[in-house]
Amino acid sequence: MKRRDLFAASLAAGIMGSTRRGWAATPDAAAALGRTALHGTIPRIVPIRAHADQIMDIKVCLRPFRPAGPRMDVEHVAGKTVVHNYGHGGSGWSLSWGAAYMAVGHAAATLERKVAVIGCGIIGLTSALTAQRAGLDVTIYTRDLLPHTRSVRANGSWTPDSRIALTQQAGPEFARTWEKMARYSWQTYRDYLGMPGNPIDFRDNYTLSDTAPDAADHVPAPADAAKGSFATTGMPQNSAEFAEYASLISDIIPAPELLAGADNPFPVAYARRTPLMIYNFGSYGHLLLEEFHQAGGRIVIREFHSPSDLADLPERVVINCPGYAARDWWNDKSLIPVRGQTSWLPPQPDASYALEYKGAAMISKSDGVMIQGYDMSGLGEMDGVGNSFEHPDRAEAEKAIAIIGDLFTRFQPRAG
Ligand SMILES: Cc1cc2nc3c(=O)[nH]c(=O)nc-3n(C[C@H](O)[C@H](O)[C@H](O)COP(=O)(O)OP(=O)(O)OC[C@H]3O[C@@H](n4cnc5c(N)ncnc54)[C@H](O)[C@@H]3O)c2cc1C
Repeated sequence: MKRRDLFAASLAAGIMGSTRRGWAATPDAAAALGRTALHGTIPRIVPIRAHADQIMDIKVCLRPFRPAGPRMDVEHVAGKTVVHNYGHGGSGWSLSWGAAYMAVGHAAATLERKVAVIGCGIIGLTSALTAQRAGLDVTIYTRDLLPHTRSVRANGSWTPDSRIALTQQAGPEFARTWEKMARYSWQTYRDYLGMPGNPIDFRDNYTLSDTAPDAADHVPAPADAAKGSFATTGMPQNSAEFAEYASLISDIIPAPELLAGADNPFPVAYARRTPLMIYNFGSYGHLLLEEFHQAGGRIVIREFHSPSDLADLPERVVINCPGYAARDWWNDKSLIPVRGQTSWLPPQPDASYALEYKGAAMISKSDGVMIQGYDMSGLGEMDGVGNSFEHPDRAEAEKAIAIIGDLFTRFQPRAG
C-alpha cells in the first residue's frame, strides 16, 4: 500500500491544491483537505499489541508489475485462443473482477463453451467465476491453489492504482481501461459485504503524522533527471513515473475526514480517517473456491513449462492468469518484480481498524493483525522495484512492528 492511496479521495476530488497546506482544523483546512469528522464519531481505540515477539508469520510476495499495465490482449498459440490476464502490480485484488470481466469478454467472443483458466490466484479464480457466470464451462489448470499463491501474501486492501503502470508507457487508453476495471470491481465487491465470515469488509483507516503533511507529500516528487527513467534505462527510476488514476473514480470512493483536537485519539499532531475496503483472505478465498465448485467447476493440478504445452488441453480457449510467473512460463520479460513483505500478529478482533504511520501500515483483520513496512526508507513507489528476493527479512518486519509499537507506547486510552 502506498501513502498517497490514503489521500486519493481528496486528491481525486481536486480539493488538495499544489500549495503547502497544514492540517489545522480551520474551516479553510477542512475545506482544503477533506471534511472534519463529525464530533463524537471516533470510536474508542483499542491499542494494537505490536511486539516482535508476537510475530506468527512473515510473508513475502513479488508484485507482477508491467510498465504498460497488465497484459490483457489475445494471442493465437498452439492452436488455442489465449486471452492474457496477468501483470496487475500492487492492485491485483482490487482490480480482479474488472480484469476478469474484460478477459471473459474476449473468451466469450470466440463462441466456445469450454474455457481453460491457467492459475488459481485471485486473478485466475475471479476469471473462472466470471466465465461461469457468463454460462461457460470452466476448468482451472494450476500449479497451486489460492492459499499457496502469491496472492495471499498481499496486504489485502483496496489499492487499485498501486504500481499498476507507468504513466508514459501505459498511455491514456489504459487510463480508460483502468477506470472500467476499478468501477466494475468496486461494484462486484459490494455483493460480498455483510456475509458470514466477513469475506469483504471495511475498516476505518487512520493516517497519522507528526508533521503537517502537505500537498507536496501526495504529489509525486519531481523526477530526478540524473537517474534517468524507464525510457532511458529499462527500469523505473522515480516515483513520479508511476501512474495515478484514483481521481477517475473519486465519485464512488469515500473521502477522508480530518480528526481535529479532541477527536484525534492518537499521540500525533495530525490524523485523518478514511473508510478502507479490506479482503479477509481466509473466508473470501474459501467462499470463492466453494462458489466455483458449486457451479460445476473443475480444478486440475498441472504445471506448464512453455506455451506449446497448451496443445494437449481439450479446451480451445485459454485465459492465462499466472501472475509474476508469466516471466518464465510465457517468457514475458516485461514483468518487473516489486518485492513486498507483510508480518502477521495474532488477531485482535476488538481492535478492528487500520492505520498508517511513518511508512508502516497496520490492518487488523479476522485472520491476524497485518503490519507492512511499505515505505520506511522514503523511496515511495520505488520501494522494492526490481527486487526479486522472495524470502522473509526478519529485521525489516521488526522495524515496521517497532514503528506501530512505539506509537502505542505513547498512546493514552480514553476513559469510558
Ligand atoms: C506485499 C504486497 C502487498 C499487496 N497488497 C495488495 C493489496 O492490498 N491490494 C491489491 O489489490 N493488491 C495487492 N498486492 C498485489 C496482488 O497481490 C497481486 O497483484 C495479485 O496477487 C496477483 O495475482 P495473480 O492471480 O495474478 O497471481 P498469483 O497469485 O501469483 O497466481 C498465479 C497462479 O498461477 C499459477 N501458475 C503460475 N505459473 C504456473 C505454471 N507455469 N503452470 C501452472 N500454473 C501456474 C500459480 O500456481 C497461481 O495459482 C500486493 C502485493 C504484494 C507483494
